[in-house]
Amino acid sequence: MAEKICVSVRVRPQVSQDSSSGTFWRVEDNRISLHKLHGTPIPAISYAFDYVFDETCSNAKVYELLTKDVIHAAVDGFNGTAFAYGQTSSGKTFTMNGSANDPGIIHRAVNDIFQKIQMISDREFLIRVSYMEIYNEEINDLFAVENQKLQIHESLERGIFVAGLREEIVNNAEQVMKLLESGEVNRHFGETNMNARSSRSHTIFRMVIESKGICMHSSGDYSSSDAIRVSVLNLVDLAGSERIAKTGAGGVRLKEGKYINKSLMVLGNVINKLSNGAKQRAHIPYRDSKLTRILQNALGGNAKTSIICTLAPEEVHVEETKGTLLFASRAKRITNCAQVNEILTDAALLKRQQLEIEELRMKLQGSRSEVLEQEILKLRNDMLKYELEREKLEMELEEERRSHKEREQRIRDQQRKIENLSSLVSDGDRSSSQDSMKESPTDECNDRGDSFKTPCFKGAGNVFVAMRSTNSELPDFSPLPDSFSNVADEVTWFKMNKGYIADLDSVQTTPARKVQSFPPQDITPDCSNDNYKEELQNLKRQLELVIKERNEFERKHEEEVQLNDRLMGEISELKQELDVSNNSLEASKERYGSLERELQLLKEERDSLLKSVAESSQKLTVLADQKENILKDLNWEVERRKDLEAEIKQFNVAFASRQRSLATIHGEFKSKMEKLRAENLVPLHKSLQY
Ligand code: ADP
Ligand code: MG
Repeated sequence: MAEKICVSVRVRPQVSQDSSSGTFWRVEDNRISLHKLHGTPIPAISYAFDYVFDETCSNAKVYELLTKDVIHAAVDGFNGTAFAYGQTSSGKTFTMNGSANDPGIIHRAVNDIFQKIQMISDREFLIRVSYMEIYNEEINDLFAVENQKLQIHESLERGIFVAGLREEIVNNAEQVMKLLESGEVNRHFGETNMNARSSRSHTIFRMVIESKGICMHSSGDYSSSDAIRVSVLNLVDLAGSERIAKTGAGGVRLKEGKYINKSLMVLGNVINKLSNGAKQRAHIPYRDSKLTRILQNALGGNAKTSIICTLAPEEVHVEETKGTLLFASRAKRITNCAQVNEILTDAALLKRQQLEIEELRMKLQGSRSEVLEQEILKLRNDMLKYELEREKLEMELEEERRSHKEREQRIRDQQRKIENLSSLVSDGDRSSSQDSMKESPTDECNDRGDSFKTPCFKGAGNVFVAMRSTNSELPDFSPLPDSFSNVADEVTWFKMNKGYIADLDSVQTTPARKVQSFPPQDITPDCSNDNYKEELQNLKRQLELVIKERNEFERKHEEEVQLNDRLMGEISELKQELDVSNNSLEASKERYGSLERELQLLKEERDSLLKSVAESSQKLTVLADQKENILKDLNWEVERRKDLEAEIKQFNVAFASRQRSLATIHGEFKSKMEKLRAENLVPLHKSLQY
């Protein structure tokens, strides 16, 4: 869907109180206008943008209103770019990097991205970052000082990319911050005047966010769908724009044309062309500078883009400020067409790297998982490094092959030339011997005429043959005409660099052979003997020249052959390097394999442990059941005993009372017997006898 680039303006606080009685900038809502000191607005210098932030505005607010949407969209698979444009000391770096109290856009974006992906449970993410600087039209890697003068390439799979640029896979915001700090250190390395450099160089912090959906099956397993989203987020701190602004709206002439920042000028051109509407879109000069080439998608392409133009409010800067506002208002007219980038090919790193790592990582829990996670991250980074290294080597090899082919072609050409010359020389020999024998000079003249028809002899005299080398590059800086306006248009630029002005550095000059042709008037059918001799002399001289030239060519050929051999040697060295790199990749893969095996063993161990634990717990359950039953029995027995005891007690009591009553009865019986005995002693005896 086509949408306009989001453009805002930010005015930094005044550094010094201006005592001049001139003008000042007034910010009202989303409008900024130039006013005379007593308050009347100056007509025509009033601009409206998506947002205009005054000097009280914090980075937090700028991020919230201007950049947050772009960052969130990047997590969802849209390319995104945010850049700061403005003159030196207007607050670009403050906006992008911020301060300790008020972190800038980069810091906030990184935190925000990691927070956001943490909340997305149905996708897994792989994030890698890179950090580069464009200085004097050279791309340097800020993560690896040895990576200098990198080249931009384009491929179907990866789009436009910087070959050999180091990328680091990252897991959390702290890692990114550490990397950025190390990048800053690299930037300062060996640089005596850092401020001068930073005002002339652009830095691009780039995050590549890959993600794919994961779904949980009812079995509890994870699986992932095939489409992978890949989005690129560029956060750019541009060089100071004052130099081109000076040439511009105010009409102030450019003084320091020699050191003009080509990237910024081309950026101006690109914005200019894009703002002119769809008609001219076919001729956007993205390729004229490294910056615009890298940001091609962000400018009128497949990306969501927000631009923040920073202004210095002091009156001395009014012309630069006007230039910046003009740039901003042109940018406002650009439409982009952003879409989610989903790919199914192997181009996505996420896909290329073994998916199992991620799955294992998710499945793994417990104390060892952290260590393994670190190990896996390291492994992934190693793999990425090897891949990038291999890619770079392949490209170098390709380059070597091409130049080798070109050299071979040149050698073949020269050989052909030498052959031509040899045949020429032998022709010359033949004709001179014929000359001495022939009677008819007319025939001789005709023959000679034919012999010298080869094109290389045509440009005789003091002419030099100039040849533009095929791989000549545009010069870094070009002299500018006096009338150069704010942002030079492409035609002027083209004229300056590709058209009229010869690229003297890359021009090779070879002196043309000094060959004297025979003056035709000398060759007449009735030429004298003297003439004839003179001609013979001429011919001999010419022959000598040609032989000399042939020797020269042979020598050159010898040199070329030597060069060729050296190149072949270099190529085989490169191949060896490639082999070494492949070997280490292999070793890393092996390490990964052994790690995986270790993991497998651990898993098996854990499983068997779990199994025995399960068995034990089963036994424990049975035992517990038994114990419970026994306890129950015991309780019952105890109850029964208690009952029995109670019964025994009762019985005892009853027994005692019976005993007592028996004793009483016995006593009574005894006394009765006594009594009876006393009363009837004899009868008793008698009765007893009975
Ligand atoms: P640039 O990168 O455009 O050259 P800087 O970001 O380095 O400019 O800003 C120049 C100075 O102004 C720095 O000291 C910075 O801290 C200060 N500054 C810039 N913008 C602001 C702002 N919005 N609030 C407070 N200080 C700022
Ligand atoms: Mg700066």
